[in-house]
Amino acid sequence: MRIMGKFMKVKCECGNEQVTSENAATRVKCRVCNKPLIEPKGGKAVVVGGTIVAEME
Ligand SMILES: [Zn+2]
Repeated sequence: MRIMGKFMKVKCECGNEQVTSENAATRVKCRVCNKPLIEPKGGKAVVVGGTIVAEME
């Protein structure tokens, strides 16, 4: 498993891109289509929808 940056940019299937924290404690949904993008699992943010397009420190 890769070490992730503090923040990552996730692109939803609808084309929307949004930045989220890797240690997000809550579920993150797409601002545009409301699809779940990130879910917290074991203290880490897991990408459940869309793809990571960039990681930032
Ligand atoms: Zn979307």
